[in-house]
Amino acid sequence: MSTWFASDLHLDPATPEIADRFLRFLAGPIQGAAALYLLGDIFEAWLGDDDPEPAHRDVVAKLASITARGTLLFLMHGNRDFLLGERFCAETGATLLDDPVIATIGAQRVLLSHGDGLCVDDGAYQRLRALVRDPDVRRGFTALPLASRRRLATEARAGSRKHLAAAGAYITDVNQAAVETLMRAACVCTMIHGHTHRPALHRFDIEGVEYTRIVLGAWHATSSVLRWDSTGYHLLPCPV
Ligand code: MN
Repeated sequence: MSTWFASDLHLDPATPEIADRFLRFLAGPIQGAAALYLLGDIFEAWLGDDDPEPAHRDVVAKLASITARGTLLFLMHGNRDFLLGERFCAETGATLLDDPVIATIGAQRVLLSHGDGLCVDDGAYQRLRALVRDPDVRRGFTALPLASRRRLATEARAGSRKHLAAAGAYITDVNQAAVETLMRAACVCTMIHGHTHRPALHRFDIEGVEYTRIVLGAWHATSSVLRWDSTGYHLLPCPV
């Protein structure tokens, strides 16, 4: 039995080809899988579970069909889709995970995270992250009409693009000391996260113990998934 991981699909009605690839992935490789973990930024923007956007409704229906066939679906918030809520989970059969969380994959405890919380060198981003995680801010936002939410989300994405273009690559990557502190505190030797769009398998050693940090990639021109099976972890382009 296989377990799959993906993040940073950034599904957007403006780029239907990426959603099509994801729907083929759900209809193909995910058939018969034990579990699918979606570790954040599945959607480029999620304005609230009440958004009737047809492209998103298609994804909800297909996710519901994989859980109906017995594949476990786990979901973590990213910084774009942190308003995915109870209704989305009820409609898809997904279980919402905390960030970070420890999962058992095979017989091994593995730390899962979206990853943005580890980008501690980016002070401006961390201040924004704390703000949007405030329950009062979230309630205020979801109480706005959809058109206002859509306008604010567009402005936020433009601001994010400007910030990423101005900040250095070092600033917007995870901080290695933060990674090591988190992994050691959780007593895990393997961590999986996304967010940085820098797919890679990093191995490092601390006091003779080998640690592995697997970074999921984004879905743009190329796409990235991680498959676990009895032979281990395989970071691959989406096979369909
Ligand atoms: Mn992200």
